[in-house]
Amino acid sequence: MNLRSLPDRKPFLTAALALVTLAALAAAAISAEPRAKDLFGAKRLPAVVPAQSFGFYSKGCFAGGVALPMEGPTWEVMRPSRNRRWGHPAMIALIEKLSRDAAADGWPGLLVGDISQPRGGPMMTGHASHQIGLDADIWLTPMPKRPLSMAQRESMSATLMVDEKTHLVKDALWTPAHTRLLERAASYPEVERILVNPGIKKELCDTVTGDRSWLRKIRPFWGHDYHFHMRIGCQPGSPGCKGQEATPADDGCGKPLAWWFTEEPWRPNKNPDAPKARDLMTMANLPKECQAVLAATDAPSLAAVTYQGGSAAAVAVAEPQPTEPVETISSGALPAQASAFAPTPKIGIPLPRPRPGN
Ligand SMILES: [Zn+2]
Repeated sequence: MNLRSLPDRKPFLTAALALVTLAALAAAAISAEPRAKDLFGAKRLPAVVPAQSFGFYSKGCFAGGVALPMEGPTWEVMRPSRNRRWGHPAMIALIEKLSRDAAADGWPGLLVGDISQPRGGPMMTGHASHQIGLDADIWLTPMPKRPLSMAQRESMSATLMVDEKTHLVKDALWTPAHTRLLERAASYPEVERILVNPGIKKELCDTVTGDRSWLRKIRPFWGHDYHFHMRIGCQPGSPGCKGQEATPADDGCGKPLAWWFTEEPWRPNKNPDAPKARDLMTMANLPKECQAVLAATDAPSLAAVTYQGGSAAAVAVAEPQPTEPVETISSGALPAQASAFAPTPKIGIPLPRPRPGN
């Protein structure tokens, strides 16, 4: 070892250390503003307050959430460890109603996927939307006859209903009962949109006879091949909830659907590593009321905020207030996922990229 080399290395080490320190400082400055997903993702319970949604489906939060019970006679909550079985009381009531109505129609019961976090907001993983308690994912797999254990609900795989190459429904798997389930969900006036894989939309377009008016609510979207996504409109008592424009009046089986069966929507994402909106959002990107939603005191117990069929205090809804003019949704500096649920792009219009999950 050449001892003489040691003193020579000192300036290099000092410079290297300085660089490391600078990098650390820069990183600290960038991350100084906490991410909204970390703040909302850390909440285990909502506060006991009247229910109210703030903001848009992909950019907001909600107060007064209630939990769908882990199971009922006609439903089971899947992936329970995610703690995403929270919603506006109107949404939770509707899921229970759909489970009963579907059972009467011959569907054995619902396997319920993600709804929202206890106070909504952006999530650590998955979904661009599901932020204001008005979105729910429901599996296209019927509830098995034997009750699923909590471990099974974490691990059971879902059935993919669509062939990934052809984008068509797998004939062996799709049944008239699947169609009836979607028709039942679309029949509720509160339900404004149901997102399904384009292959499922096509199956409905090709097979539904008689009343086809409900097809208007069934919207093709990427993913959604093992579950459908049910979205209800802004509820009374939520003047700060920003609604979505109505779906076109026709059945949506024409040109907009044909676009999904071209090569364009399935091209590889050119920028797969671009940050997603949920990874960038800070509290400054959310409605200002979300700060208070986050700060409110936890409910005294899980039982106090678990939905009990409309009898609990937890179902209180805020008094309707004078409606403020609806603000336009500005995505600001955020990527395109903030408007993930914009209407299907017209043929020839550039695709929203990067492609949102659901
Ligand atoms: Zn969803």
